[in-house]
Amino acid sequence: MENTSAVRIVWDYPVAGHLCIDGAVKYVKLSRQPGAAQPQGVCPQCQVTFQYRKPQRSRVRHYGENGATHF
Ligand SMILES: [Zn+2]
Repeated sequence: MENTSAVRIVWDYPVAGHLCIDGAVKYVKLSRQPGAAQPQGVCPQCQVTFQYRKPQRSRVRHYGENGATHF
C-alpha cells in the first residue's frame, strides 16, 4: 500500500535528500509555489511531498543533538 499523500518536513534547502522506495537516496528540488508559505517539492518516484521548514531555535532543551530521527 502506497503512501501517496505523505508530507515530510525537511530542513534542507534547496534540495532535500531522502531514502526512496527503491532503497536509493534521491534528491528533490524544493521551490516556492504560489500560495504556499514554504518551499516544497514532490518526489516523482515515491510521491512524497517535502516541505521545507526553517530550523527553529528551540526554547525547549534538546533531547540530544545527534538524534535527528524525529519526524
Ligand atoms: Zn522518493
